[in-house]
Amino acid sequence: MSSTPVRVRIAPSPSGYLHVGTARTAIANLLFARHYEGAFVIRIEDTDKERSKAELIEPITDALKWLGIESDESLVYQSQRLNQYGQYAGKILDAGHAYRCFMTAEEIEAERKLARQEKRNPDYRTPSLSLSEDEIHERVAANVPHTIRLKIPNGETTFDDMVSGHLKKANVDLEDLVLARSDGTATYNLAVVVDDHEMGISHVIRGNDHITNTFKQVLIYRALEWEPPVFGHLPLILRPDKKKVSKRLGDKDVNEYQKEGILPEAMFNYLCLLGWSPKEDREVFTVPELIERFTEKNFNASNAVFDEEKLLAINKAHIMLKSDHELATLVAPLLVEADLTTKYWLETRWEYLRHVVGLLKERVTRLDDFPAQSGFFFQFDYTYDEKAAGKHFTPEAAEYLKKLYERFASLSRFDAESLEKTLSDLADELGVKRAKLIHPTRLAVSGVPVGPSLYHMLQVLDQRVVLERLEKAIEHIQKQNS
Ligand code: GLU
Repeated sequence: MSSTPVRVRIAPSPSGYLHVGTARTAIANLLFARHYEGAFVIRIEDTDKERSKAELIEPITDALKWLGIESDESLVYQSQRLNQYGQYAGKILDAGHAYRCFMTAEEIEAERKLARQEKRNPDYRTPSLSLSEDEIHERVAANVPHTIRLKIPNGETTFDDMVSGHLKKANVDLEDLVLARSDGTATYNLAVVVDDHEMGISHVIRGNDHITNTFKQVLIYRALEWEPPVFGHLPLILRPDKKKVSKRLGDKDVNEYQKEGILPEAMFNYLCLLGWSPKEDREVFTVPELIERFTEKNFNASNAVFDEEKLLAINKAHIMLKSDHELATLVAPLLVEADLTTKYWLETRWEYLRHVVGLLKERVTRLDDFPAQSGFFFQFDYTYDEKAAGKHFTPEAAEYLKKLYERFASLSRFDAESLEKTLSDLADELGVKRAKLIHPTRLAVSGVPVGPSLYHMLQVLDQRVVLERLEKAIEHIQKQNS
């Protein structure tokens, strides 16, 4: 790495919500900036009047914030810089690297058509450059509409990419691009170059769908006699069917993963592995660990496949990394939203909630699984799983539960260890397998046949509740069999 201070940016266009590709690019830039102790800036590319929607800017920055990504400096809005760009088109023109193109839309279209037939780039120069200086001045003075086009030089354009190495393109393959439209506004590529230069961007890390733009941008830098930044083009993110990830194909935005109970740390961790690898035999990392490892040396050029299963596995691992208290804070609003309890009830029983999430965390993959699996910890009016009740709620089981009730009622310590011993001793005395007691007990206290460790679950529910539930189940079995 050179000694220039690192300054990177992401430049989202507010034409949709934050998609995984932009999030991945943001993460890579942020990690790169943090690793090299540089700056990370967000620039909103909102100049495309037809596609940009101001109301999408906040959801994008909110989704980035959720991922822990914020601009180190004030947000830069391209729409507020529109009058910065025109002068540079003029500068390039004055330096002889651009020309005024007076061709009409129809003439351009006809030339394009012909060029396509002749398998060459369209030629805008012949008609434009055949005009004398005086003719050009006359037309400009008469406000004849025209664009300013970059004069692509002969030869080839090259740059060293941090991801893909040395890239080159023969200039005959690049057409003379418009720098300024007939209304004087700058086109996308000129605006990006001016912004990156004026913002002092040292490294441009973005998706490899921008490589064609980069060749054009390198030529604009040269025309302006500016040093281009160092580029790094990350591979495309593909669906498992190898198509490019796209909203149209039903792929989800970052917000949707958030709603589905993915932790921001997991999303961050997973997305950073698309196009970069720590070259270690592990995949779960905290942000500080990623910052330490994130350098340009481990970028991967090959296309990355978005594997939701892997995201879920990483999410599960990040859930395990959280303390019960942290998880309780995240799960509490979900329980309220699912109508399982109220905010007030939880505030007064925080310890209980902590124990519930501690008990369930090994069994969940997403935050959403907590409300789905924990209803019986908060609600008493659950029904018994029908199939399991048919199997385990037998008249014989009612008798066992009655005996267990008595033993549990007389316990002075209601902890997992004592509960296990009590149940095992009773099974031995009755001469039955423990399962004969375990299954009906689990069903009685939770309504479902599967769940966390029975004894720990009983401990968390606590003696009064467990006894109430056993009593209710005994009555239920008796009613069913009378
Ligand atoms: N606005 C572009 C996009 O959303 C980013 C361009 C860039 O990073 O240079 O894809």
